[in-house]
Amino acid sequence: MRKLKIYLLLFIIFIQILPERASAQDKAQEPKARYVFYFIGDGMGLAQINAAQAYKAALQGKIGIEALNMDKLNALGLVSTYAQNRYITCSAAAGTALATGQKTSINTIGMNADRTAPLNSIAWMAKKHGMKVGIITTVSLNHATPAAFYAHRPDRNDYYEIALQLTESNFDLFGLGGLKDAKGKKGDQPDAYDIARQKGYQIVKGREEFMKINKLDKKIIAINANIDPENAEVPVALDRGPEDMSLAEFVSKSIALLDNPNGFFMMVEGGQIDWACHNNDIATTIGEVLDFDQAIGHALDFAQKHPKETLIIVTADHETGGLTIGNALKHYDSDFGWIRHQKASQPALAKMFKEYKNRFCPANCSFDGIWPIIQEKTGLGKDIPLNEFDRTQLQMSFRASMLGQMPFPSEEANYLLFGGNDPLALMVTRIIAQKAGFGWTTWSHTGIPVPVRAQGPGQKSFEGFIDNKDIPHLILKAMGLPQNLN
Ligand SMILES: [Zn+2]
Repeated sequence: MRKLKIYLLLFIIFIQILPERASAQDKAQEPKARYVFYFIGDGMGLAQINAAQAYKAALQGKIGIEALNMDKLNALGLVSTYAQNRYITCSAAAGTALATGQKTSINTIGMNADRTAPLNSIAWMAKKHGMKVGIITTVSLNHATPAAFYAHRPDRNDYYEIALQLTESNFDLFGLGGLKDAKGKKGDQPDAYDIARQKGYQIVKGREEFMKINKLDKKIIAINANIDPENAEVPVALDRGPEDMSLAEFVSKSIALLDNPNGFFMMVEGGQIDWACHNNDIATTIGEVLDFDQAIGHALDFAQKHPKETLIIVTADHETGGLTIGNALKHYDSDFGWIRHQKASQPALAKMFKEYKNRFCPANCSFDGIWPIIQEKTGLGKDIPLNEFDRTQLQMSFRASMLGQMPFPSEEANYLLFGGNDPLALMVTRIIAQKAGFGWTTWSHTGIPVPVRAQGPGQKSFEGFIDNKDIPHLILKAMGLPQNLN
């Protein structure tokens, strides 16, 4: 009788243990993310994504949404973006949260909020565990978002020091933009590219050289043929020439180079979505979102080959510009397709207008003189009908740009109207936004949450309302790596 009781007890214990053991077994077999793509659209809020979707539909004569590649990622969440000491964040603080899993203060790169201790990133952890690491961006490689993955500096403007830390990172691949202030702010420091070479990096410039590389047997910094002499970014999609690599092209080649049995971690930033939004330039914004989205397409193709081991994350550091769909002057209407008539970005337009000014102003310049350039590059007054108010605004901005006659005595009023931009280039792109039915509220960032999309191991954990600092921890968990980065 006593024996029977003991057997019964053992049986009950066994039954209770059984499900636990089974779930532990399941856990051990749960696929881990061996290939990780971390796409960060700088300034890419919901409105920027929706503008691109609606624009694509409009091009086909449809009202509605044409799906993007990022829409194929099934898991969707919302991300709060505030910094430790300011609700409306910046790319340094937000990039640090997205890279290290800790909130920090404004302008701080990869350090704690009081700037006393460095914070390690998930890229560092991936490298430590034998994975290959790639850091890719359309702005400079030592700009805030990419820097948060390898650097530790109290100020995001320490570009030279950040560049030196890049050379110490030992990460396998950096590209598409170059190094800003490679010789320091005054140009009197040892060249950071030379230092990178000394640390074992091969520097390749342009498509031809980059495409020739078949194996990643040496660490690489690969730079587009054309980069801005001051800020080291690549041309935006709208201004790209035949020599320029697209982000998608660069990502596709990078996947081939980084692919190896130990896996890889790749951070891809669409860095100039943010810049276009700071300019309130809707055509360039949409162009950059679509360009960024094409790069995501290559990650999706790769994921089809390794569906159980590929994690793709698409998110943003913050929204920029306070973009929305709808404009007071347009009431309930929209003509998103008109965006296609803008053939140059606002900075490229500003450059053309400056050339005109240098040649003709003040003696021989007139609105009629510059009008053919505006028509050709933007479609205004040709493909996009203008009214009296539009013409008045253009002429007022012409006088501000060409003759320095600002419309208001108050600096604040002029700032509200033009920001710090070239008045005429700004007005041209603003009228395009108004006519198409888009609205902007600020020249800066906003504090509204941004979407996160995920596909792959652990994708469900990205759903719901999460915080930016949660994302790196969720990625590490999906990778089966320790979540403690320090
Ligand atoms: Zn910004």
